[in-house]
This record gives sequence, structure tokens and C-alpha cells, in this order.
Amino acid sequence: MSIATLASHSSLQIFHGAKFEGFRTIAIVLRDRLWFYEQFRHLIDDFVILNNWRELCSPDVVGKLQSLNTILVPHGSYVEYVGLDCAERIEIPIFGLRGLFRVESDQWAKMELLRRAGIPIPRLYGVGDEVHGPVIVKLPGAKGGRGYFIARSGEEVIKGVEERVREGLIKSPRDAIVQEYLIGVTTYFHYFYSPILGRVEILGADIRYETNIDGLRRLPPDVIIEVGLKPTFVVVGNLPLVLRESLLPKVLDYGIKFVEETRRSLPPGVIGPFSLEGVIDDETNIRIFEFSGRIVAGTNLYIGGSPYSYLYWNEPMSMGRRIAREIKMAIERDELDRVVT
Ligand code: AMP
Repeated sequence: MSIATLASHSSLQIFHGAKFEGFRTIAIVLRDRLWFYEQFRHLIDDFVILNNWRELCSPDVVGKLQSLNTILVPHGSYVEYVGLDCAERIEIPIFGLRGLFRVESDQWAKMELLRRAGIPIPRLYGVGDEVHGPVIVKLPGAKGGRGYFIARSGEEVIKGVEERVREGLIKSPRDAIVQEYLIGVTTYFHYFYSPILGRVEILGADIRYETNIDGLRRLPPDVIIEVGLKPTFVVVGNLPLVLRESLLPKVLDYGIKFVEETRRSLPPGVIGPFSLEGVIDDETNIRIFEFSGRIVAGTNLYIGGSPYSYLYWNEPMSMGRRIAREIKMAIERDELDRVVT
């Protein structure tokens, strides 16, 4: 049995974890990045080399992966790179819930899933609606926050969105997502749902560091206003975060609610890693503005294990290794079909 993933995003962590658990590993890699991943030859048994990501679904590549008895682990960039159609229909077992990819590509469906789960979310608006208080206007897809902006009125939303259509960042104003701007600490919670053990584990948390929103606080507010600086949200990296223990029950409750809702509306429900992304306010309310049904890049902080993964496993357990451990447990119990779709 081999574990494969696209060589990008959190792939080194996934390979590292898979090796730890005794699997063969396959890096599906772009030709011009091969030299880099070859430096990690000790983590990678086979390379499947592509000229572009869309080749993943070609019969040759799929045939090669099938012949190596592969399970594909989709990470945060998977759908963005290979496109929704290929991501969904590829004839390789996927560790995770394939049915969630389509929901994740539709921001309204995504927020509706959170709402139905009973998880608090920010107010949502359409482009053209009158807005109350500051809003953040977001563009779809995992583009690392590029093109996002803050607006204070419906007119500002329309103006900014039209600019982004002209710049080619989005095709139509309908593609933009307008949410109430939440004030507090932006936090990413990393979860793992184990169908084999029947439990949700909190495996970590992080803060994304973004330019220039996180740099602006170093300037006095009057300078920001005088110079007319506008916040942007381009991701630079991730910082580790250990949560107040009193927040953990709520964080775990949201994770359980998310799993239960996906089991109701998208059976068999989410499998393995997922992340809820939200803001914690000064009354310790948490509202969730985004989720990912896959492994997020913030888990790369914890390749040696996180403070939380130690509590469950008492050994260095990264998200990558946890994925491999689940597959291993499923194979041992002859229940592999419970963890792949
Ligand atoms: P996202 O692409 O949804 O992960 O958002 C990228 C960044 O934009 C986040 O890390 C936050 O800094 C910011 N952000 C997104 N949505 C909101 C929101 N509703 N309120 C406040 N900040 C947000």
C-alpha cells in the first residue's frame, strides 16, 4: 500500500508521517520542482512527474498510481491545483470525504453547512446589499488571501469588486464573498475525525500571519489614516498557538457539530483532517468564517507533534502521521472502506 500526495503545501509532513507508520510514499511532483523534493529522497519512495497539475487525471498517471496500490491524501491545495472535476472523479481511493470538495468550492453552500451544524458564523451579504459595519470582501479559491479588501458600505463593496473583475482576479461580481468583519483573534483549529476510533481529536491551533494587516499595528493609527494605507490579507506563514484550556470544550464541541452535520448531509461524513477558521472575541465567543475539509498548512508547525496530539497519543503525532496511523488501523481491522471515498 502506498500513500501519495501532490508535492506541495503539507506534503513533506504527509510523507514523513507515512514513512513513520511504515508505508511506501509517492510524490506527485511538477517537473521543475523535482530537484527540491529529491532532497527528501529518504521520505519519498517513488516520484510521479507531471508537466502540470491537470495531468493528474490522465489515464497514464491514474494507471501508474493504481498499479502502486495508492491511497491519495488531498491537502489544502489539491482542488485548487487539479480542478474540481479531476479532484472529484479521480479513480484512486481518497483518504477523506470526496463529496465535500464541491461544497467547499461554493462559499454559500459552505456557510450553510456551518449554519446547519449549529456553529455561529458572521453575517453574510451579497454584492450590492447595504452592509452594516465593516465587511471583508473575499475572493474564492485557496489563493492565500490575495485581493481581499475591507469595505464600509455597499458602494465600496461594488467599487472594489468591479476593480477585481477588471484585474481578472474574479470573473464575475457574484464570485466575491462578503462577510461581516469579525473583531478579535483570528484562529485556526486543527481537527482529526477518526471513523475507526469514533472520536474527534483537536490536534492543534495556529494563527496565520498576514501582510500587511499584521504589520499595520506597528504604526500609530493616525499615520495609517494620513498615508491612506489599506489592510491586505496575504498569508506569509503560521504561528503556533496554545489555547486557554477553558476554550477547549467549545472548540471541541464545534468540531463534533461539524462532523455530525457532514454525516447527516454528506454521508459517510468528513474523514480525517479538517479545520475550522474563526475569530475569538473579548467575551470568548467564537464565530467561524471558513473551514477546510482537508489538512491545512498550519499543521506544518507540528511535524514533531503538538501539545494536544501528545495528550491523545503520548508520542510525536503530526497530522501527517495521524493520517497514516488511521489508514494503518483501518487496514489492520479490515475496515479500509471506512476511511476512503
Ligand atoms: P480566508 O481566506 O477565509 O481563510 O481568510 C483569510 C484571512 O482574512 C483570515 O486569516 C483573516 O485574517 C481574514 N478574514 C477572513 N474572514 C474574516 C472575517 N469574517 N472577519 C475578520 N477577518 C476575516
